[in-house]
Amino acid sequence: MARKQGSDTEATNGLEFQDSVSTLLERRGVTRREFMKFCTAMSAALALPPAFAPRIVRALDEVKRPTLVWLEFQSCTGDTEALLRASNPTVAEIVLDILSIDYAETIMAAAGHLAEANLDKVVREEKGTYIAVVEGSIPMKDDGIYCCIAGRTALDRAREVCGGAFATLAVGTCASYGGIPAAAPNPTGAVGVKAAVPSATVVNLPGCPLNADNLTATVVHFLLFKKLPATDGLGRPLFAYGKRIHDNCERRPHFDAGQYVEAWGDQAHRHGHCLYKMGCKGPETFHNCPTQRYNDKTSWPVAAGHGCAGCSQPMFWDSMTPLYKRLPNVPGFGIEATADKIGLGLAVGTAAAFGVHGVLSAFRRGDDSEGAKED
Ligand code: SF4
Repeated sequence: MARKQGSDTEATNGLEFQDSVSTLLERRGVTRREFMKFCTAMSAALALPPAFAPRIVRALDEVKRPTLVWLEFQSCTGDTEALLRASNPTVAEIVLDILSIDYAETIMAAAGHLAEANLDKVVREEKGTYIAVVEGSIPMKDDGIYCCIAGRTALDRAREVCGGAFATLAVGTCASYGGIPAAAPNPTGAVGVKAAVPSATVVNLPGCPLNADNLTATVVHFLLFKKLPATDGLGRPLFAYGKRIHDNCERRPHFDAGQYVEAWGDQAHRHGHCLYKMGCKGPETFHNCPTQRYNDKTSWPVAAGHGCAGCSQPMFWDSMTPLYKRLPNVPGFGIEATADKIGLGLAVGTAAAFGVHGVLSAFRRGDDSEGAKED
């Protein structure tokens, strides 16, 4: 992906590239119709009015590709997989043509010293203008020896690359907040990018995995407005993390109606009722999963019948577990910003709502629908 073979191989050098994104897309066989569809989807992803779509078209028609380097540290490569599997219409192709990806371990053709030389060249010659993407957490314990690449620790590389970037996009929960590698007892001292490199300008795009549309939309926002998107107190773009899962969940009418799944596979489960009692963390979790969805927008965990695990929240593995118990006392909200405090408030409100439902159910007789049962 980073170094596609073909007539424009020379042009994929981000330092020399001169064509606009639309010219390159045309050369790659992406039709104008697909391009327009992509721009409309990006307008929706950024929560912009539909009227912005033509502006995105114009911006991408004129823009020169920014250089991007993708670093991978303590991760499962799920975020790279999420990007490579994105399509409809050929999102990955469009993203990869919008960006000049000069270094990405999983997908680059170069290897060994040549690959590292590519990265060194970007850091040296494009200081302050390139975009860094980091996937995976960074171990701090024992001088960071638990993750080394080409003889250098992830911490050392991150300080150099992220410290010199225009901005760093931390993709996935591991890069954002440490993720599963940082779960107790956190044997490697894993942290997210911002904790490892406080001086870097970091936008967090948490989730297990990242939703590739949110990465694309962040880049498009930068190309469109020449600045990074507004973020919440946890460094997450508000366009993608400004609302709780619960706010847009398709099962929400059942929550409001007091119709809950009581056991996996019961009638309420089959009818798509609310998963709150099965441990859904949607009321505490900020992400646009219900609207952006995954797998070509076909589904997302709650639609597939599984409660939200809260994976886009910091330290979710420690704070949201056990995953199948409802509303644990979540540590960490005390340091969060306003939007997130609303989530905590909602969680408390949710518990209160359950209390009310419980009272109502005591008076409800003759309703034998499993989905209508309450505490
Ligand atoms: S508790 Fe979960 S399943 Fe129920 S409405 Fe909220 S987000 Fe959806």
